[in-house]
This record gives sequence, C-alpha cells and structure tokens, in this order.
Amino acid sequence: AKAEGRRCYHFYTPEMDAALQERMELDQSMRQALERGEFHLVYQPRVDLASGRVLSLEALVRWHHPQWGMISPGRFIPLAEETGFILSLGPEVLRQACEQIRAWKARGVPTVTVAVNLSARELREPDVVDRILGVLADTGLEASDLEIEITESAAMSSIEQTIRTLTELNTQGVRISIDDFGTAYSSLNYLKRLPVHAIKIDQSFVSEMKDDPANHPEDAAIIRAIIGLGETLGLKVIAEGIENTLQRDFLLDHGCVQGQGYLYSRPVPAEDVERLLNPAQA
Ligand code: C2E
Ligand code: CA
Ligand code: CA
Ligand code: CA
Repeated sequence: AKAEGRRCYHFYTPEMDAALQERMELDQSMRQALERGEFHLVYQPRVDLASGRVLSLEALVRWHHPQWGMISPGRFIPLAEETGFILSLGPEVLRQACEQIRAWKARGVPTVTVAVNLSARELREPDVVDRILGVLADTGLEASDLEIEITESAAMSSIEQTIRTLTELNTQGVRISIDDFGTAYSSLNYLKRLPVHAIKIDQSFVSEMKDDPANHPEDAAIIRAIIGLGETLGLKVIAEGIENTLQRDFLLDHGCVQGQGYLYSRPVPAEDVERLLNPAQA
C-alpha cells in the first residue's frame, strides 16, 4: 500500500517519458543537423496585392533530414526556443539570408528587403543588436537590406527592454515588423512607443475570409480594426495567408494593399524567387 501511495507522487508517467524522450532526441538531431548543414532558407514574396509586384521577401527556415525528410518549422522552432537551440539556429538563419542577398547583389539581381524572423529568446539576448549589425557588416550589406520580424507576444513581453533593443536597431536603419498581429494583448500605448515599420495581420483572421466575409463578422471586424490602427499610427499593414481572390478583394476593399500567401507564391528556394525579382532574365 505504501509503495502504491508513493507511486501517486511520480511526476512522469510512461507516456510523458516517451514524449520527453522524443523531444530530447529531436533536440539532439537539430544540433547534429546544424553541423551537417541540413537547414536552409526558402523565401516568400510580399506583394502589392493589386498588381502582384514583389515588394519584399520573408525568409523561412526549412530542415531536410536525410531519413525523416522535411520537418516543419512549426514542429522544431518551438522546441528550439524552449531548449535554447534557437540561439545557435537563429544566427545561422540570419547569416544565410544575408549571404543570399549579397550573392544576388554581386550578380546584379535587383534585390528587395528580406525579412528574417527573430524569436523571443533571441530578442532577449543582450548582444542581439551587435550580432545583427555584425552580420550586416560581415556581408557588406546596408541595414535597409534587412527587416526583422518579431511576434506580437515576444514584442510585448519585457516591453522596456524590447523598446530599447528595437530602437537601437531602428536607429541603425534596420526595419522592424510585428508578426502575428492581433493574437496577443497589445497595449496600444506600447505599440506607439515601439519603432515599428509594419504590422502583419495574423493568418488566422485572413483564413476565415476564404468564403463570404459576412459569415465571419468578428474576423472581418478585427481585420478592419487592424487596418485602421495601421493607418492611424502610420504603420504599413501586411496581410498573411492569402490563398484566394475573395481574401485579396476583401483586403483591398478595406485598404490593405500589401500581403503574402499561396495565391501569389508559396515560400520558394532562392533560385525560384530570383526569377520573380528579375523578370527580364526569366
Ligand atoms: P510565420 O512567421 O507566421 O510564417 C508564416 C507561415 O505561414 C509560414 O509557415 C508560411 O509558409 C505559411 N504560409 C505562407 N503563406 C500561406 C498561405 O497562403 N496559407 C497558409 N496556410 N500558410 C501560409 P512555415 O514556413 O511553416 O513557418 C511556421 C512558423 O515557424 C513561422 O510562422 C515562424 O513563426 C516560424 N519560423 C519559420 N522560419 C523561422 C526562422 O527562420 N526563425 C524563427 N525564429 N522562426 C521561424
Ligand atoms: Ca514571420
Ligand atoms: Ca505570422
Ligand atoms: Ca470566425
């Protein structure tokens, strides 16, 4: 009876052990993958919604494991944040993006700003500004070649530190956008104090507009409110996850002129996006 009683206090069940085991294995594999060069970037155009012209790009990381195949960042980025591996992966992503821009410039490809996602954990590192500026210097790029995307929830936590960090970056010419906007609890007062260039309407709202927006009045209202907020604060508004023309038309009708999504292009390898940047060579 005593043994049984004690078992009640066991913290891990066998199922939890298995899950923990799997996560530890994935973490170990990520670290090996970095050494083996299994991470690379794809790029999704952000376009002018009316014309489809490419205005900038978002870099998104991909992991091709030799046996397991493609592993989605939705699976490994949250784990990498938790274990701290993101502090090794993040710099690799930034370096690859900057080297790609440099390579395009060297070959005369007309480049646009490339946005790189910066995780909450990276944003909290004391040397994050020096690190970003260091990569720009090493690759000989202008600060305006790079944009940093930070999720709303990352930006709004430790707000005073965030304001200092982003202000330093912005002073150096690096643009900032707030990702997944509308999913966290922004204080508008803080938003006003952040040196932000753009807010990105989270795709969960845009995805509801795939059929008649009248069927999703709350999502439609949130989108309109974000667009209005952008106008009021003088921020660019970028819609994410646009998959069909109904979504595009709804956004255009309400004054959102910029966005990204499968309707225009999936995230694609550098060679493919190059053709979109350089239509003359296509
Ligand atoms: P995110 O930054 O919000 O990126 C947008 C995600 O939506 C991307 O998923 C993109 O492929 C996908 N997407 C683009 N257009 C459409 C569309 O029309 N419909 C739908 N359903 N999805 C669309 P992905 O590449 O799987 O990345 C997922 C998340 O992983 C990203 O969300 C971001 O939070 C994180 N992530 C990806 N790459 C990086 C990175 O290099 N660093 C960091 N810190 N996080 C990254
Ligand atoms: Ca993003
Ligand atoms: Ca997003
Ligand atoms: Ca809805």
